[in-house]
Parts: sequence; structure tokens; C-alpha cells
Amino acid sequence: MSSEASTIPKRGSGLKTIPKYFIHGFAFSIIFIVLVFVWALIFAVLIVIGSFIGFILGFIVLFFFLGGLNSFLTDLIWSIPIKTAWKSLLGHGFLLFILLIIVHIPAVLIEFIVPGLATTIVLFIFNAFIDGFVAKNVAGWWKKEGFEYAEEEKTPKGFLKKCVRCGREIPVASEQCSYCGAKQTEE
Ligand SMILES: [Zn+2]
Repeated sequence: MSSEASTIPKRGSGLKTIPKYFIHGFAFSIIFIVLVFVWALIFAVLIVIGSFIGFILGFIVLFFFLGGLNSFLTDLIWSIPIKTAWKSLLGHGFLLFILLIIVHIPAVLIEFIVPGLATTIVLFIFNAFIDGFVAKNVAGWWKKEGFEYAEEEKTPKGFLKKCVRCGREIPVASEQCSYCGAKQTEE
């Protein structure tokens, strides 16, 4: 069935993805600023109602916001459907929260060492790429099952190989079969 494949298909790692990372990170930052205002209000109310429980609930709400926003943006920008069950959103938001704090540490340090408007602008642009990259990859962990299947349907026949175990057609660059999970050993 499959013809001789001479080239490895480009799997979404071309130059076109770079602006998308920026758009993802930029949109994320802007919408998040708006969401933080809403969250701050909810957080304040929750703390008034029950100090410690309110504090915990406040963070849970924040993780939902983060997970929900990033699921929405990943689907919109990359056309990757993301799981939106509450457990997924919570885990997604929590991981994103932790990773975004970590990747922002160098920027905060630079801002502290070299303060100024120019630094702020440069860092904002740089952070948008970083945030977009982190956000897209974190979302990928919660992508809906069956998505890989849809991607492979679009792969031209020449870029397909047969799985070593189940024999179904998968992209030549695959290291693992998306149907049966078998590791594809090099020929
Ligand atoms: Zn297989």
C-alpha cells in the first residue's frame, strides 16, 4: 500500500509555528490580566466567607481559569482539541501555573537588574513566546484522544509506514504506534 517515502513529513515544527507561539502567549497574557481581576474579586469573597478554605478554593478557581483559558486558546490557535472535564482543567491549570512561575523567574531577575521601559517591552515580547511555547505544550498533555488519529488521516500515503505490531498505517516519523502503542524500532 505505502510507496517509498524519501522525505520525513514536517510535523508542525516549521517556521509558521513561531508566530503562533507569540500569539498564544500574547493572547494568554492579555486575557489572563482580565481574568485576574475577576478572580481577585472571587478570591476576596471566598476569604471573607472562610479564611483557609476560601484561600484553597480561591486557588482552585484560579487553576480552572488557567486551564479553561489555555484549552480555549490551544483549540483556537493550533486546532488541537483539549479535554475540558473538571479534573483535566484543574490539573492543566495547576501545572501551567507552576511552570509559568518558573519560566518567569529569569525575566523578573532581569527586570530587577536592568529596570526600565525598554527592558519591560523586550521582556514582554520575549515572555509571550515563552508563555506560548509552555502553554501549548502543557495543553498537549490534555489533548483529546483520537486527535492523533485525525492528524494521520490527513498524512499523505507516501509518509506512512506500517506499525511493527498491529500493521496499521502510521506516519513514518512516529516512534510509537497511536493505535496499539507499540514502539517502532528502527529498520
Ligand atoms: Zn500498532
